[in-house]
Amino acid sequence: MSTMPLYLDYAATTPVDPRVAEVMARHLTLEGTFANPASRSHMSGWLAEQAVETGRRQVSDLIGADPREIVWTSGATEADNLALIGYMRAHRARGRHLITSSIEHKAVLDSVAALEREGFEATYLAPRTDGTISPQALRDALRTDTVLVSLMAVNNELGSINDLETLGTIAAEHGAAFHVDAAQAAGRIRLDMSALPIDMLSLSAHKAYGPKGIGALYVRRGTRIEALIHGGGHERGMRSGTLATHQIAGMGLAFSLALEEQDSDNAHLERLGQRLREGIRNLEGTWINAEGGAHVPNIINAGFEGVDGEALVMALRGLAVSTGSACNSASVDPSYVLTGIGVPRERALASIRFSLGRFSRVEEIDQALESLSDALSSLRTRQSA
Ligand SMILES: *Cc1c(COP(=O)(O)O)cnc(C)c1O
Repeated sequence: MSTMPLYLDYAATTPVDPRVAEVMARHLTLEGTFANPASRSHMSGWLAEQAVETGRRQVSDLIGADPREIVWTSGATEADNLALIGYMRAHRARGRHLITSSIEHKAVLDSVAALEREGFEATYLAPRTDGTISPQALRDALRTDTVLVSLMAVNNELGSINDLETLGTIAAEHGAAFHVDAAQAAGRIRLDMSALPIDMLSLSAHKAYGPKGIGALYVRRGTRIEALIHGGGHERGMRSGTLATHQIAGMGLAFSLALEEQDSDNAHLERLGQRLREGIRNLEGTWINAEGGAHVPNIINAGFEGVDGEALVMALRGLAVSTGSACNSASVDPSYVLTGIGVPRERALASIRFSLGRFSRVEEIDQALESLSDALSSLRTRQSA
C-alpha cells in the first residue's frame, strides 16, 4: 500500500483551504450561484455578478487597491503575459526597451522573449548572490526609451524578497512603468498598492490556498494596456471571457483569509522554517543557497555536498520536494535561478527546494530531517563504496 508523501512543495502549489473548497462548491450547481455573471436579465445572473464583485473586493483589499483595478485572468502566467505584452504593445510609440531580471519566473522570461521576437529590446539584470536586484543595477540599465521594468516580489525558488519601494521609485523617476510578479508574495509580505510605486501586479490563487486556474492582474487606474484575449469585452475590455464564478469566489475567500491570517501564518512558518534550516545546517556537508538579504520564511533552498539533487529526490520518495522550479523539473539542466545568482553548476545540481505552508506541522519537519539524514548517509556510503 502506498501512502502520500509528506508535502513540502507549497511553492509549486498549495492545497485549497477546506473553507475555500466549501464556498466554491456553492457556486457550481443548480441550487447554487452558478449563473453567468454577465446575464443582466435575471436574478440568478445578478447573484453571480454579486459573487464576482465580492471576490474582486476581497482580492483588492489584500493589496490595498480599488476593486476596479482588478482584472481576472487564468492565473499569474496569463497576468504576466498581459502586463508585459499588453503594456509594451500599448506604448510602442513611446519606446521599445524593457528591463527584467535573469531569475524571473518563465511566465515573465518567455513573455519578454516573445516581445523580443516582435522587435522590442530587453535588458536582463543579474541579481546579487542573495537573489535580490540592486537599485544601482536598475539605475544603470534604464535608458530614455525604457518604458517598462518587470521584477518579481518574491523569488519562487529562493524566497528572496526584492525592495519594491526602492526599485519602483527608480523606475518611476525615469518615467518607466513598474510591473511586479507577486505570485509567491500574497499572504507573505505587505503588498499595499496605495503606498507602493507599482503600476501592475500579477497574482495567483493557487499559491495562496485558492484553486488553480484563476489569478488576477492589478492595473493601476490610468494605466493603458492592450488586451491579448478578445471577445465580449469583459473586464473593461482588458480580458474577455465568461467569468469563472466558482474560481473567483474561491480566490476571493483565499485572499480574505490570507489578509486575516497573514500574521499567524507567518509566525507559524517562521517557527517551522527556522527548525528546518537549523536541522539542515546540523547535517554534515550542507549549505543554504541565497543566504543574506530579506527572505520569506517558507522557502528554503539547500544544497548537499557530493550528492546529485535528482538522486536525492529519488531517495526521498517519502517527501514531496523539488529540484529547480516545478515548471522545468523534467530537465537535467541545473536551475537557471541558482546559476543566475552565481551558484556553480555542480552545487546547483546538488540543491533542493523545501517549501512549507499553512498546513505543515512540526512533526513533519522532524520527519523530513530524519529522512534527509538517512538518504544522505545511504547515498554517500554508496558513492564511497
Ligand atoms: C506559480 C508562479 C507563477 C505562475 O502562476 P500560475 O497561476 O500557475 O500561472 C508565476 N510567477 C511565479 C513567481 C510563480 O511562483
